Amino acid sequence: MSWGGVCEECGGRNEHYGERRTTSRFCSLKCRYKKRDRARYAADPEGMRARARAYYWANREAVLEKAAARRGRVRPPERTTCTECDGPLEGLQRVVCSPRCRGRRYARLHPEELAEKERRKRARRRVREALLAQSAGDRLDQLVA
Ligand SMILES: [Zn+2]
Ligand SMILES: [Zn+2]
Repeated sequence: MSWGGVCEECGGRNEHYGERRTTSRFCSLKCRYKKRDRARYAADPEGMRARARAYYWANREAVLEKAAARRGRVRPPERTTCTECDGPLEGLQRVVCSPRCRGRRYARLHPEELAEKERRKRARRRVREALLAQSAGDRLDQLVA
């Protein structure tokens, strides 16, 4: 199975993709855990919240220290322009400016899936055209007969 080496979680490239040793669908452990934790949370939100609270009370000092360190750090600036066309982003847009640019981004990050989709589309069109040609031929036969 080919998946193109594109991370399921963030869309980034898995750098080891192509080497025999990886079948990971994620670019990093961080992305793998992100997805796993989201799934766990969805399965048992109350339980996961309880776990988080228990962790907090058991490691309160460390948690607060880490949060304080994070507060002091400068955040990377948010994007203000579309990744595909450099047009301005508005409202809730965070990466691309329009459905058209979303399509362009998808094509850039998932070239293999897109090629496969196009291939299926062309195959369907060929079948449709063959059927149309056939029924036109049938009508012509009836007219001639
Ligand atoms: Zn990732
Ligand atoms: Zn755009």
